[in-house]
Amino acid sequence: MTTPECQLRITEIFLSLQGETNTTGLPTVFVRLTGCPLRCGYCDTAYAFSGGELMTSDAILDTVRGKGVRHVTVTGGEPLAQPNVHALLTTLCDEDFIVSL
Ligand code: SF4
Repeated sequence: MTTPECQLRITEIFLSLQGETNTTGLPTVFVRLTGCPLRCGYCDTAYAFSGGELMTSDAILDTVRGKGVRHVTVTGGEPLAQPNVHALLTTLCDEDFIVSL
């Protein structure tokens, strides 16, 4: 359980098939955090630079649980740009999700 004040700005949370790494093809929940301080020339997620919705870690966890799969990828944007992401990652791991960043 995380504290109620632990919030993150989220662009989207969705279920898809993993397209990268050694878990390619496995159903995975993607948690896309909003914001990025970089501007890579090859970026294909500029829509995640701004906007989004503030969500508590508990609300994020409830949404992730509702997708019914064990693999979770936390992405962005640049997910490490939001300090509260560390608590979210810890909680996801503590709840036995298989987590990638
Ligand atoms: S979202 Fe990723 S690819 Fe796009 S600018 Fe940020 S770090 Fe680069």
